[in-house]
Amino acid sequence: MSRILIVEDEPAIALALQTDLRLEGYEVEVAEDGETASQRARDEPFDLILLDIMLPGKDGFAVCREVRSAGVKVPILMLTAKAQEAEKVLGLELGADDYVTKPFSALELRARIKALLRRTEDATPEVQRFGDLEIDFGRIEVRRADVALDVTPIEFKILAALVKRGGRVVSRNRLLDLVWGENTYGSDRVIDNHVANLRKKLEDDPKKPRYVISVRGVGYRFDG
Ligand code: CA
Repeated sequence: MSRILIVEDEPAIALALQTDLRLEGYEVEVAEDGETASQRARDEPFDLILLDIMLPGKDGFAVCREVRSAGVKVPILMLTAKAQEAEKVLGLELGADDYVTKPFSALELRARIKALLRRTEDATPEVQRFGDLEIDFGRIEVRRADVALDVTPIEFKILAALVKRGGRVVSRNRLLDLVWGENTYGSDRVIDNHVANLRKKLEDDPKKPRYVISVRGVGYRFDG
């Protein structure tokens, strides 16, 4: 399921977008200001960001610039309020992938989102290799030296969440959300237990992990 971050300060528009995209089967989250949006886009694995330009505080251009200079390659679809050529050009120059001009139709927006997601899916390899470790996102399988490891679906989700972050730290809270869904309440110990089990299958020496690294007081990161 693709995860989309909607950045929109007008509650009515944000709600309409959220409702529509959820019905389309996307996992959707909303940020209402530029600062929050920029932070979350850099810290969390989203598959697409729908970014309004006119925002309180930091505007969409600034958010786009920050996200790109942090090296985050997530597709960004900008929402421009005015049909002004300069705005579109600036957005694209700052690293946005496409734009939609307000007012837009739900149909058009869905089509643009699909096209952008397809573009990145094509570009993202289904299998990622790290030494003799292979993570197969298509078959939901982890192999070491060509032998499939007996990882549970939860362990695979944890591993995938870490790998997709490209080496950045994922907090335990965030992992709980990503693996079990928002609005579920789990304890840090649940995560730690699953990570311990995952390491037993993945690592040469689970006590000195090479791949799934603990970040004290925060969470975990994947060292590829
Ligand atoms: Ca706005």
